Amino acid sequence: MSETSSEAGSLSDTASVRERSRLSFDLDVDICVVGAGLAGLTVALEAARLGASVAVLEGRHVGWNASGHQLGTVMPGYGLPIDELIERVGFEDARELWSLSKQGADYIRTNATEELMPGIGLSEGALEVSNVDVGDRLISRLQLLNEDFETEVEGWQVDRVRDQLKTGRYFHGVYYPGAFQLDGRKYVHGLAALARRAGARIFEDTPVVSIDPSGIRKRIVTPSARLRASHIVLAGNIHLGAPLRRLSETLLPIWRYAAVTAPLGERLAEAIVFQGSVADSDGVDHYRIVDGDRLMWASPETTWAARPQRFAAAIARRIHTIFPQLGEVQIADVFSGAVGQTVHGMPQIGQLRRGLWVASGFGRQGLNTSAMAGQLIAQSILRGDERWRLFSPFELVWAGGSIGRVAGHVVALWVRGSSATAGALARYRERARAKERIREARLVEANRRARTRPARPRPPPDPPSLERLPARVASESEQDEGRLHSNSQESEKVWPGPV
Ligand SMILES: Cc1cc2nc3c(=O)[nH]c(=O)nc-3n(C[C@H](O)[C@H](O)[C@H](O)COP(=O)(O)OP(=O)(O)OC[C@H]3O[C@@H](n4cnc5c(N)ncnc54)[C@H](O)[C@@H]3O)c2cc1C
Repeated sequence: MSETSSEAGSLSDTASVRERSRLSFDLDVDICVVGAGLAGLTVALEAARLGASVAVLEGRHVGWNASGHQLGTVMPGYGLPIDELIERVGFEDARELWSLSKQGADYIRTNATEELMPGIGLSEGALEVSNVDVGDRLISRLQLLNEDFETEVEGWQVDRVRDQLKTGRYFHGVYYPGAFQLDGRKYVHGLAALARRAGARIFEDTPVVSIDPSGIRKRIVTPSARLRASHIVLAGNIHLGAPLRRLSETLLPIWRYAAVTAPLGERLAEAIVFQGSVADSDGVDHYRIVDGDRLMWASPETTWAARPQRFAAAIARRIHTIFPQLGEVQIADVFSGAVGQTVHGMPQIGQLRRGLWVASGFGRQGLNTSAMAGQLIAQSILRGDERWRLFSPFELVWAGGSIGRVAGHVVALWVRGSSATAGALARYRERARAKERIREARLVEANRRARTRPARPRPPPDPPSLERLPARVASESEQDEGRLHSNSQESEKVWPGPV
């Protein structure tokens, strides 16, 4: 458990190694950002680049929660499936929202260069695999993405998926060649470094305990200092707490647990050829190869905080279920983070009242969406960009408090259960189809042989004997009466020979 990989563990301690600066004096700024996760840091970077004075207040340290414990897969899109997005806001707005989500991914690609973030470890391509056989349904989705939403995607047949991922668990796949992955922890700390370089000031160990958003200059209170700012951006995800409890309560907190295995050597390359990220369409497993021969794998979820180590064995079992040929897998490191899930599945991006902004609820797909939110909010404050209004249809809806958490847990269990059942059924059908194909092939072969075999000369039929004649007549009359089977043996006896 103590062993860690270079990609997964390299930056986990960055904040503790670097001296953290806590805000201990009063300050006046243009923009105060609450929370130094992906969302808050992107707002800070963009606002500082546009010339604003920015202070980021972080209760713990940079990347303390989900932002510092993610798998680093960057894809276009949202938690809400594309067809539901169209249903919700109409085709044109859905297209614009989708295009914004792509811009978020592009923004990360621009920042995550080796020059700006050494060791960021960019690699290309992500694959979404289906647990069930739904090839026909995929076609319309591929068309929609390729043609209407200008997103490069490829549909992979079952054989191609299984050629890359040696497991019978998956059927078809959607490959996103433009998606990519990076070292998630390096990215969040790299973002903080860029924001600092652009002039933003980041204060850690500085929780915001209350805010007063009324008036032109808003007030922010921390345990050891007070701030005044023209704009406050709430990017605290599920931990925002006291400053705006009603806002926190619009998010269902979901803790997601992930692990990095010990080196798996050659057997990993034999089981997994694909080098990008893999996620199944039910959202149960998400994984990729890191450091050449380790697996980074996220799967279990809870709606309450638990010690990540508790899930080490569950993740090892999950890996074994999908790739049994890997044998026993040692877990080197386990980590977790809490994502904020909105009721409608879309992020919360916008202005709550004049000068009070929110950027949260990014769910499991937080890299591209938080990057987009950061840009939109900074550009709105400083350039009057109004595109954040595209998110207005997705209101702040109460997530149900503790009942919502229980319901969320039950729904997650149900999704996993039904995914497992649907997967088992699909594999059963596949086996049945394979057996049927073998049977048919055997039949075809047998018929072919029968046709090509030289015909045996027929023995001349026995002349009908007088004793047998009544029996045959009886058989025929019984056939007429529909009693075929009872006398068929009798009739065979009467007329032997090939049929
Ligand atoms: C295991 C796992 C794997 C994931 N993998 C991926 C992936 O591959 N791709 C992807 O796109 N997404 C992924 N995600 C989702 C992604 O990590 C999140 O959506 C994203 O990090 C959310 O960022 P955030 O800035 O909104 O929140 P957070 O990371 O939670 O940051 C909020 C910060 O605000 C601070 N804060 C809160 N309240 C206060 C306060 N009152 N005062 C001061 N500070 C405060 C917190 O301490 C915290 O540091 C994954 C998540 C997990 C858990």
